[in-house]
Amino acid sequence: PLSLTDPVELHRICVCVRKRPLNKKEVTRKEIDVVTVPGKGVLLFHEPKQKVDLTKYLDNQLFHFDYSFDESSTNDLVYRFTAKPLVKTIFEGGRATCFAYGQTGSGKTHTMGGDFSGKAQDSSKGVYSLAAHDVFNLLQQRRYADMDLSPYVTFFEIYNGKVFDLLNKKTKLRVLEDEGQQVQVVGLQEVPVSSVDDVIRLIEKGSACSMAACGCFCFNTYSNDRKTMVETAEINRSLLALKECIRSLGQNSEHIPFRMSKLTQVLRDSFIGENSRTCMIAMISPGMNSCDYTLNTLRYADRVK
Ligand code: ADP
Repeated sequence: PLSLTDPVELHRICVCVRKRPLNKKEVTRKEIDVVTVPGKGVLLFHEPKQKVDLTKYLDNQLFHFDYSFDESSTNDLVYRFTAKPLVKTIFEGGRATCFAYGQTGSGKTHTMGGDFSGKAQDSSKGVYSLAAHDVFNLLQQRRYADMDLSPYVTFFEIYNGKVFDLLNKKTKLRVLEDEGQQVQVVGLQEVPVSSVDDVIRLIEKGSACSMAACGCFCFNTYSNDRKTMVETAEINRSLLALKECIRSLGQNSEHIPFRMSKLTQVLRDSFIGENSRTCMIAMISPGMNSCDYTLNTLRYADRVK
């Protein structure tokens, strides 16, 4: 569906979706794949057992995004169409945010942190480190080398509406707005970095204590699992908040409901700056056992703009 020669458009807010392949367990269980990516920017959800006729699908099964990545997409490709176009922004006085969203086990860690499918995790293949490469390359360019720029890394997770510092023993942190109305995650560790390797070490340290990684073990628990229910409710709340904020921004409304969720509160400054760019990647598990969650993520993420 996506060709490497497609132009990368720079939207202020870009919403993408990535379908991961069925994993070994799902294949062994002969789970049905309920998601198809028929073309760039669209994703088709189909009922199990229903024969898929791509020329006649119903409109309510189709979801629209800036980009949709099918199960054969590599992290490199995803990076190229999501975070890469944002990197320049931070050298031009702007703010760039790329974040992954979705149910536990849908591929957030794999996409952002790197390829963990082998025995040894390979963090050099995730969006974080691919972005770090580009950031350090740009830092070395003469026009930026003259500027006094010191990169640092923070790594936190918003989980069920709470913020946890992944570089500081998963400390729970508060989010405050200071007098200048800047949003601050209070006490968040800022670790200076001077190379891509530094960044990779921090990704590995942070990923090791991420709930999302631990959630992998719960991958097979489906339905009535309280943890997953709470997670879904929070995802709905955050995505609804995101939708409301983006809509209000589009209407130049005076009141943008950033406080509706932790996610939008933390993202506030990424939305309001003149030269700010945000990219959201909704992650989708393709198996039939996940179809309620998948449909849910899709419904909230579709037409966010
Ligand atoms: P999450 O962080 O959303 O909980 P993970 O990234 O840990 O989910 O993914 C769950 C499992 O699926 C992991 O075993 C991961 O290696 C695998 N996985 C996720 N995305 C892909 C992908 N695009 N290709 C291959 N395997 C993937």
